Amino acid sequence: MKTPFITKEQAQKIIAQYPTPFHIYDEKGIRENARNLMKAFSWNKGFREYFAVKATPNPYILKILKEEGCGVDCSSLTELMMSDACGFSGSDIMFSSNVTPEADMKKAAQLGAYINLDDFTHIEFLEKLCGLPDTIFCRFNPGGHFEIETQIMDNPGDAKYGFTREQLFEGFRILKAKGVKHFGLHSFLASNTLSNAYYPKLARILFNLAVELKKETGADIKYINLSGGVGVSYLPDKPQNDIFAIGEGVRKAFEDILVPAGMGDVAIFTELGRYMLAPYGHLVTTCVHQKHIYKEYIGVDACACNLMRPAMYDAYHHITVLGKENAPCDHKYDVTGGLCENNDKFAKDRMLPEIEIGDILVIHDTGAHGFSMGYNYNGKLRSAELLLKTDGSVQLIRRAETPSDYFSTFDFSGIMDKYLDKK
Ligand SMILES: *Cc1c(COP(=O)(O)O)cnc(C)c1O
Repeated sequence: MKTPFITKEQAQKIIAQYPTPFHIYDEKGIRENARNLMKAFSWNKGFREYFAVKATPNPYILKILKEEGCGVDCSSLTELMMSDACGFSGSDIMFSSNVTPEADMKKAAQLGAYINLDDFTHIEFLEKLCGLPDTIFCRFNPGGHFEIETQIMDNPGDAKYGFTREQLFEGFRILKAKGVKHFGLHSFLASNTLSNAYYPKLARILFNLAVELKKETGADIKYINLSGGVGVSYLPDKPQNDIFAIGEGVRKAFEDILVPAGMGDVAIFTELGRYMLAPYGHLVTTCVHQKHIYKEYIGVDACACNLMRPAMYDAYHHITVLGKENAPCDHKYDVTGGLCENNDKFAKDRMLPEIEIGDILVIHDTGAHGFSMGYNYNGKLRSAELLLKTDGSVQLIRRAETPSDYFSTFDFSGIMDKYLDKK
């Protein structure tokens, strides 16, 4: 069962002020979930979550997470700028980027962020550009397939990220010889996992590697970053991950491997994005058309530009028709946006209650990798983002784009001045 965090009455009130489509986030849910994560890892003294900014790059969201004790994981110049403006600095920031531009690397160094190198060649790149800091993280890619209990979870051998095992040993030796004092180890081996075994399995790989690296290179490994990848269940009938079981599984690995090696003071970091935000966002949209041809279509005022996951990954997102929560799902629909692209469908052959024009639909689990993957194809404009605050009030946390925003990069030319808002 998936229940929206807003009712039809609430939605109607909000829409009177902020027309659909919009993304709305649930502050209460975000905070409770963040607190549970902290609790699940409270056994580790240095534990910290670095929220993956790319999942929901909005300063108001970052500030809520900051209040809950999170840092930020950035991978680009603008993500660094947003984090800086929100008051994150130094060790509050993890810079896990790849194919890193010089300007981005310089900004990360200037902010004193933890720099997580994606590649062996980035050692020299960073040294020449900014000099080497006291603490460096390196990203590990073990290659091959990543399996949990013989089930293939993902294919690191085909992924562009990280150092090979050999490069990691060589890299640590070089970095140590060049004066780097402290090390962190990072790896991201499977995305959107629905298994309490993912983090514990990854932890065992990284913990064993850390013990070996320390033994062979003498490096002082202070941090192990389990990165993102803990998923959420987008399906209504599939159980969610249990963060307490996950924390306990990592603790067990820690006790088995790091403590006996005299590395019991290593701090565990995470860079969760989806897990922190996905369930606490809805895309709210209105049915504006119905169409009856070879199939039954419900046309809504949102489109793939507002939520790309169904079009890009064929991802399932649950849909609730507000006010019809208890009505029988006896109609089969494709729920579509208005792009000139047949993959612009939020749902295919979905059994839903009978939908009328004007009905308000909630598309669930859009709080991460939702708005942020948006784009402007067909000249569609980005929606507003709203925050349902803990006290029940609603705050605009990003206004909707206007045509003037869309045309603003022609402001040098004069051609579009007719449609540009005057400054
Ligand atoms: C995308 C990403 C994350 C977050 O991934 P989720 O699946 O949202 O948890 C964390 N770290 C890095 C380096 C990433 O690229």
